[in-house]
Amino acid sequence: MICVFHRSSVVQRTEWVVHSFAVSVIDNLLSNNRDYIERHGHREMPTEPQRHLAVVTCMDSRLDLFGALGLDLGEAHLIRNAGGIATDDVVRSLLLSQRLLGTNAVMVIHHTRCGLETFEEEQLQDELERDLGARAPFRLGAYRDVRADVRATVRTLRASPFVNPVEIRGFVFNVDDGDLFEVPVNEEIS
Ligand SMILES: [Zn+2]
Repeated sequence: MICVFHRSSVVQRTEWVVHSFAVSVIDNLLSNNRDYIERHGHREMPTEPQRHLAVVTCMDSRLDLFGALGLDLGEAHLIRNAGGIATDDVVRSLLLSQRLLGTNAVMVIHHTRCGLETFEEEQLQDELERDLGARAPFRLGAYRDVRADVRATVRTLRASPFVNPVEIRGFVFNVDDGDLFEVPVNEEIS
């Protein structure tokens, strides 16, 4: 029997509830990997992405960017976090991607119906303080306008002294139909 812990928002906010499942989802995935290695075969691909591309995007489970962009293994770095926002760690990853592994184009891809649109920054911080006794020492990333958030992320990356600004462009991916559209980022227009 596998025990999975998650936080209950119904019973009591600060308590953790134990659920039991006959089979762990992780065990299922390990079984899937046995099939994958048959399809993968032995391929010694170079560490450098062959399209010299880095993508900054959300962790959302509906984004299959290899499929959406026609990418193959070994062709691009995908740097993901909640929202695809320009955190210090995204800058760190881009710095290493560009300086050590030869990428020179950056796509920022946010998406429709993102989880970051579903809460208010200060309200969630207040909840954390009440439930956990501390506010998060970092921005949680809540936003209301996905296009504005793409523009803000592109501008932050372009302004970073640690990111090569040669080509950094912003996009929104529609999770309902797979459409990817560009958000023009003009430095003169806010
Ligand atoms: Zn998202």
